Amino acid sequence: MPAQPVMRNNGSLRIAVVGGGIIGLSAALEMRARGADVAVYESGIQLGAGVTVRAAGMLGSAFDWALEADQRSLAALARHAGMLWPDFAARIERMGGGGVEFSKEGAIVVARSDAEIGWLETLAAACQARDLPVRRMSAADLKRDEPALTGGAKAALMLPEDRQVDAQIVLQRLGAALSRAGVGFKYGRKVERIVGGQVFQMPDGERFDRVVLATGSGPLPAFFGPRGAPLEHGLIEMIPVKGQMLALAPVGGGPQHVIHARDVYIAPKSRWVLVGATSERGRADTEVEPASVAALRTRAAALVPALADAPEVTAWAGVRPGTPDDAPMIGQTAIPGVFAALGHYRNGVLFAPATAELVADQVIDGKVSPLAGAFDPLRFDKQAEAAHSALQRD
Ligand SMILES: Cc1cc2nc3c(=O)[nH]c(=O)nc-3n(C[C@H](O)[C@H](O)[C@H](O)COP(=O)(O)OP(=O)(O)OC[C@H]3O[C@@H](n4cnc5c(N)ncnc54)[C@H](O)[C@@H]3O)c2cc1C
Repeated sequence: MPAQPVMRNNGSLRIAVVGGGIIGLSAALEMRARGADVAVYESGIQLGAGVTVRAAGMLGSAFDWALEADQRSLAALARHAGMLWPDFAARIERMGGGGVEFSKEGAIVVARSDAEIGWLETLAAACQARDLPVRRMSAADLKRDEPALTGGAKAALMLPEDRQVDAQIVLQRLGAALSRAGVGFKYGRKVERIVGGQVFQMPDGERFDRVVLATGSGPLPAFFGPRGAPLEHGLIEMIPVKGQMLALAPVGGGPQHVIHARDVYIAPKSRWVLVGATSERGRADTEVEPASVAALRTRAAALVPALADAPEVTAWAGVRPGTPDDAPMIGQTAIPGVFAALGHYRNGVLFAPATAELVADQVIDGKVSPLAGAFDPLRFDKQAEAAHSALQRD
């Protein structure tokens, strides 16, 4: 059951967002726009403590989801989010005092062998089946549009609606936009305990009507009733998925588009060229391993030889907040008035404006849109219960 909207004397609902990554801030922006009083609790002493600033900022609606035949709801969320991004970027830029490097260029996917050509064809067919724009690129198209790609591409596709932003800049601009809109930031406040009832009391004594959990891969706070009894939120902990990334200095003759091959991607920004990324399920450390970073460079240079000698600016690792079915958890938890915006795994930057909309629909308006149904944060609990009952019937 969605929580009923509560109107306070001054007409505003008081909402605490726990977690100041792109998901928490995007949800805060949308809820503020719908008239709520919002405060963001962030354990870091400034923005950027989580994984958002480790992301490549690709908005891969088509590349990431077209081939996932059993993930229709995720593909729909990705498509919806991709369509929201142009306006979302414009809104952040307008409110946040500057650009977010939203690029309208589209992404190029390349194949270098016959086996990869088969994969490319399957991707093209999947995009067409899902009505996602896709265009085959000839050798002449490639030479004209992305001359940096001289590393043996045999075939290529253009995904014109797979755009990109600079995730680090987006986070800073979102923070500025929220401050200007009157959202309060409580930095250095790791929320470990919340006391709930009719209202929710945070560790600093502030009270709120609703709580939105957007803690990324961090541990969830514990909830207690007014007399100290534990309250069960019914959420699972996130599955960590480590990703390592290399940032190279921009070089003459470098790429202009996001480029995907099967084993690497290249995302050029104005200040660096990002090369990613490893995907290491179950790992929650942020150690950068020289062998992984060297492998990323070798793969990138095989595609774009101009990157072979590009100076390394930095390398990093972040932890994606994963879930058992790779889909986010968006909606009310088992505690009425407490909502999840969690588990955005490898697409939190892409999904942010769509998640913000779905969260605000539920938190402010008490409505669960059809798109949100598949992301019920209690679905794993329910699956466990169903499996348990099936066992008992056996
Ligand atoms: C190498 C790599 C590349 C990626 N590339 C892309 C990409 O190209 N496109 C894309 O869409 N996604 C990408 N992602 C995934 C993306 O980074 C995440 O899905 C997204 O950033 C998740 O955002 P979030 O707000 O949920 O988490 P976070 O950014 O981690 O934010 C959570 C925040 O909550 C705070 N917090 C945690 N616990 C508490 C607490 N108890 N109290 C207060 N504060 C708390 C943390 O300090 C943190 O600031 C990539 C990830 C990696 C690792």
